[in-house]
Amino acid sequence: LASREAHPESSVIDVSGVKIGGGQLGMIAGPCSVEDRDRMMRIAESVCQSGANLFRGGAYKPRTSPYAFQGMGEKGLELLREVGDRFGVPVVTEVTDPRNVELVAQYADMLQVGARNMQNFVLLSEVGKTSRPVLLKRGMSATIADLLMSAEYVLSEGNPDVVLCERGVKSFDPATRNLFDVAAVPAVQGLTHLPIIVDPSHATGRPDLIPPCALAGLAAGADGVHIEVHDCPEEAKSDGPQALLPEQYEQISQQMRLMADLL
Ligand code: PEP
Ligand code: MN
Repeated sequence: LASREAHPESSVIDVSGVKIGGGQLGMIAGPCSVEDRDRMMRIAESVCQSGANLFRGGAYKPRTSPYAFQGMGEKGLELLREVGDRFGVPVVTEVTDPRNVELVAQYADMLQVGARNMQNFVLLSEVGKTSRPVLLKRGMSATIADLLMSAEYVLSEGNPDVVLCERGVKSFDPATRNLFDVAAVPAVQGLTHLPIIVDPSHATGRPDLIPPCALAGLAAGADGVHIEVHDCPEEAKSDGPQALLPEQYEQISQQMRLMADLL
C-alpha cells in the first residue's frame, strides 16, 4: 500500500487542515516534553509567529532510564490541546503504549510513533485503527525497507495518513547524537508516495548543526522539518541540550522559507 509503484502520485496528508506533501511543507516545532502552561503558551506563540504550522510536545516520553522524567501524561495532553485551540494550530504528540492510543487520539491532531517504537507492531496496528494522521519516525537502527514495512502496518489497518520522518541513525561517531541520513529523503520518495520530513534535532543532538541540516533536508526534497524549541533549555525536562531558542527558530524559519522558494 505504501509503494510508489502502486500509487505513482505523491500523497498529501491533511492534519486538521494543514497539508503535508506535494510541495506543501509540514513545519513542526515545540518542546521535547509538554511542560507548564505558561511556558507552552510562550513557546507556541513564538514558533507559530515564526511560521510553524504544527505544534509538538511529548506527554508520554520514551526515556532510556526509568528514573528520568516520563512526561505529564493526560495532564500534558490537556495542556497541548489547550495550546492548539488557543493558537489555532494542530498538535502532534507521541503515543508509546497501545493502551493509550484512544486517549491520545482524543486530544491530538496527529499521533507520533517514535523511533524506539517503530517496530512496535501492536502499537502500529492500533494507530492504524484510528482516523488520526500518523507521524512515523525511523528507528535508529532501521533500514528504509523496515520503515516502509512499519508504515504498511498502519496503512493495512485502514489508516491511509502516514508521514514518515528521518531522524538519524546510529553510527560509530559520538560527535553527533545520531547520523543524519539525508539521502534517505529522496531514496524513500523513490519508493513510496507517502511524504517524508526530517528531524535535525534528534538526528544531530546539537543546536549548531540543526539549521544546516534543516536546510539540507529541504534541499534534498523533504516535505517538512521537525525541530525542538525551548525558551530555557537548561530547565527543559528532556532534550534541553539540543533545543533551539525561539529566536534561533525564527531565524532558521526565514532561511527555510527562502530554501523552499528556491526549489
Ligand atoms: C521526540 O520526538 O521527542 C523523540 C523521542 O524522538 P525520537 O523517537 O525520534 O527519538
Ligand atoms: Mn526529544
